Amino acid sequence: MISEKEFSRNLSTVKEQIEKACYKYGRSAEDVTLLPVTKNWPVDAVKICEVNGIKRVGENRVQEALQKMESTQGTGYDLIGHLQSNKAKMVVGKFSCIQSVDSFKILDKLAKIANELNVKQPILLQVNAGKDPAKFGVSIEEVPEVLEKALNLSSLRVDGFMTIAPYAPDNNKVARDCFASLCQLRERMSEIYNENFQELSMGMSGDLNEAIAEGSTMIRVGSALFGLR
Ligand SMILES: *Cc1c(COP(=O)(O)O)cnc(C)c1O
Repeated sequence: MISEKEFSRNLSTVKEQIEKACYKYGRSAEDVTLLPVTKNWPVDAVKICEVNGIKRVGENRVQEALQKMESTQGTGYDLIGHLQSNKAKMVVGKFSCIQSVDSFKILDKLAKIANELNVKQPILLQVNAGKDPAKFGVSIEEVPEVLEKALNLSSLRVDGFMTIAPYAPDNNKVARDCFASLCQLRERMSEIYNENFQELSMGMSGDLNEAIAEGSTMIRVGSALFGLR
């Protein structure tokens, strides 16, 4: 596990990278939220974030996140990993945002449970904007249909979209095209449904510049902050 000192250094580096990219693409750094991804690290990773004034982290496994929630206070958790429908009842009302909503089935489940609990659960639709067969996510073509359904579920609040670019470390264009597709999709959907869909959760350690170039509002960063495992 990383030391506080190393983490602070990495955090400065990542923030600087975000600021530089924002400057380059004519955006305000305030419009890009950094979501540290603490998955696979002990709860101390969340506590180091808290010490550094960060109040929201990303986790990709339900059980691991729930355990961490028990020993932290005041930190919000975003679920960024695929959610199986049999775990839906464990996440509603617990996560600040469920970013990985990727099917009609999971939408229905979440809505039903949120209704029962009388909460309004923020979600993002995960879109397979890079058409990567190895990735979860609603296809671009299916988004209007899924979105329409989601907007009719009063116990859910659709804040925007999330995507993970196909893995192509030697070709920045693959990620950039993927992010551009998601941004265009958001614009089309905003027009059709007259909603903001403000959040575009896209970009990770390796492709955050491309994501900022294409309008990302949330960068999910694991290894650049905590190192590799
Ligand atoms: C692990 C993970 C990240 C962070 O990836 P890094 O490359 O370590 O920054 C971002 N998003 C999702 C969905 C992840 O599972």
